[in-house]
Amino acid sequence: MKKHNYSAGPCILPQEVFEKSAQAILDFNNSGLSILEISHRSKDFVAVMDEARALVLELLGLEGKGYQALFLAGGASLEFLMVPYNLMKVNGKAAYLDSGTWASAAIKEAKYFGETVVVASSKEQNYNNVPKGYSIPADADYFHCTSNNTIFGTQMKEIPTTNIPVVCDMSSDIFSRQLDFSKFDIIYAGAQKNMGPAGTTLVVIKEEILGKNGREIPSMLDYAKHIKAESMYNTPPVFPVYASLLTLQWLKKLGGIAAIEKINNAKAELLYNEIDRNPLFKGAAAVEDRSNMNATFLLNNPEHAPIFDAMWKEAGISGLPGHRSVGGYRASMYNAMPIESVQVLVDVMQALEKSI
Ligand code: PMP
Repeated sequence: MKKHNYSAGPCILPQEVFEKSAQAILDFNNSGLSILEISHRSKDFVAVMDEARALVLELLGLEGKGYQALFLAGGASLEFLMVPYNLMKVNGKAAYLDSGTWASAAIKEAKYFGETVVVASSKEQNYNNVPKGYSIPADADYFHCTSNNTIFGTQMKEIPTTNIPVVCDMSSDIFSRQLDFSKFDIIYAGAQKNMGPAGTTLVVIKEEILGKNGREIPSMLDYAKHIKAESMYNTPPVFPVYASLLTLQWLKKLGGIAAIEKINNAKAELLYNEIDRNPLFKGAAAVEDRSNMNATFLLNNPEHAPIFDAMWKEAGISGLPGHRSVGGYRASMYNAMPIESVQVLVDVMQALEKSI
């Protein structure tokens, strides 16, 4: 039986993506070849890369606005250093919002390149909220934020307005909600949540911000070189890019980000309503910052854990335990998760209440 997969990433993808990917491994485009054995320079794969890059910009509403989409390797973690390498001036400085473990990992890398100003941090509260009311230094080379904090389950509801370039790690909520994406100069996201399997990272760049920081950048870390090579500077992660294209096509067919946002809101409302109603549970994150992608919650009485754990496993749920730094539970409800799976979890929570 197919599980209800609440894993934080790699995670659930649409069933049709699994099926089409499996078919392409056996025979890609009726070519008599597997997607795993074709050249990345073949006409059929160049078409995949071109369509994937164009579809990203189309779905984000960034077509014709001076942006380029790249499918790189190295995970979102490599972007933690590619961003300062490409944007921080020699003797310059960057501003970062410290809203979670991943934001803090990005800050650590930026410090290798120069002065890194932390404009605000919720670390003291174990990142249970998104800091607000901070100011961004106007003389920084860029401002970096994390739109969704996968581990604690908080999400930025407002993106600050500033005159300096804005860089955002959207690894765990890209393509999940409507935003004015033109407010960002760089958006990056590991594929393995809302876009595809692990192995590629999407980077969306406003081209005009590059080439201004006076650094010599090694080729593989230079966004401009990747753009010039149309995301084929070296062999790209062929299969993850293909599976990402299938997911992007699925999203477009569904009605794009506007349509999935409605579904994501309904899923989150269903689960958070139960967390708030059910006397056995409480939410972990500050209510106003709750993530629509990763809902974190705790049992009021940890002694109920063995019975609850047995019940959700019995119901075919997988991947529910929280990150070790938060404890409790984390229900990751990425784009591909149907609301029916959320209802299964809510039913188990209600059954637990009845059984106690
Ligand atoms: N940023 C965020 C918000 C994440 O959730 C993750 C991984 N879960 C990362 C960065 C790191 O991504 P990767 O493993 O692709 O380097």
